[in-house]
Amino acid sequence: MSARVVVARSLDDALSALADADEHAHVLAGGTDLMVELRTGRTRPSLVVDIWKLAELRGVREDSAGLRLGALTTCAEIVRSERLRGHCELLATACAEVGAEQIQQRATLGGNLGTASPAADIVPALMALGASVRLVSRSASRDVALEDFCVGYRRTARRPDELIESVHVPFRPRGERCAFRKVGTRRAQSISKLVVALALELEGARIVAARGAAGSVAPRTLRLAALERELLGARVSRELCLRAAAAAAREDVQPIDDLRSSAGYRRQVLARVLHSLLCDLTGVDACPS
Ligand SMILES: Cc1cc2nc3c(=O)[nH]c(=O)nc-3n(C[C@H](O)[C@H](O)[C@H](O)COP(=O)(O)OP(=O)(O)OC[C@H]3O[C@@H](n4cnc5c(N)ncnc54)[C@H](O)[C@@H]3O)c2cc1C
Repeated sequence: MSARVVVARSLDDALSALADADEHAHVLAGGTDLMVELRTGRTRPSLVVDIWKLAELRGVREDSAGLRLGALTTCAEIVRSERLRGHCELLATACAEVGAEQIQQRATLGGNLGTASPAADIVPALMALGASVRLVSRSASRDVALEDFCVGYRRTARRPDELIESVHVPFRPRGERCAFRKVGTRRAQSISKLVVALALELEGARIVAARGAAGSVAPRTLRLAALERELLGARVSRELCLRAAAAAAREDVQPIDDLRSSAGYRRQVLARVLHSLLCDLTGVDACPS
């Protein structure tokens, strides 16, 4: 069966084409995931709606609560934008780790979310930032928190008739401390063995807000609830960092053995990486002499 291809000239065009879509329909943004899927035959779409030319899905707008980034915003645009780096350095850091520069020119926010790979690098950063996704269809629009959007292995809360229109990143609290770490086989063009993102707020020596998210450690990107539980309201110390990291590795994740890594490696390295990032963020000496 060959796919029907619609090159959308406007957002209305795209939404009309998707109105009767089934779960085999796909949206073509930068194509860095979808073209690979099509060439290998892993995906055989019933319909492909090309949205790359849609100006409505580009650009960054400010509202009273934060910045709204169009779904077609590319990694390269985010890495280059002083405004976005100032607003959410964590997101820019994650985007700089996607593939290499050629991929970053085409790879979009909407595509990273749409693929919903558990190894996606942008999704944990957005989750740690408390971002939400705006989904639009011909009849309605709704905002979904990132943790509710990623529902399973390459599955999202998006209905076939919906398009990811934009991503909202709330204004950051003054003094927020963020960290991102990707562990892969090499520096570029490497799929994550694991990826973590953290955002903490401190008042004096006490942690008053904590969000953590990780990828490649479960069928979907997830919030690190046990880590957050240990950190929230606690006074910073080396023991706290160790305890919170260990809780995340023990309770939050369900890693598997696959081509890239083993479950045991992932769990152990996750604990080490989280411990080291927490010590850095809170100014605690990780290895006192
Ligand atoms: C060599 C190579 C290296 C890579 N390295 C990395 C990496 O290091 N880290 C990483 O996270 N990813 C990596 N990727 C994957 C890919 O580049 C990213 O996931 C990218 O963000 C996908 O964006 P895209 O615009 O190209 O998506 P597309 O390929 O156009 O689409 C991907 C999926 O999302 C859906 N989709 C796209 N846009 C929308 C929308 N607006 N609304 C609804 N659904 C939509 C499509 O239907 C499709 O299923 C790599 C890919 C390649 C080929």
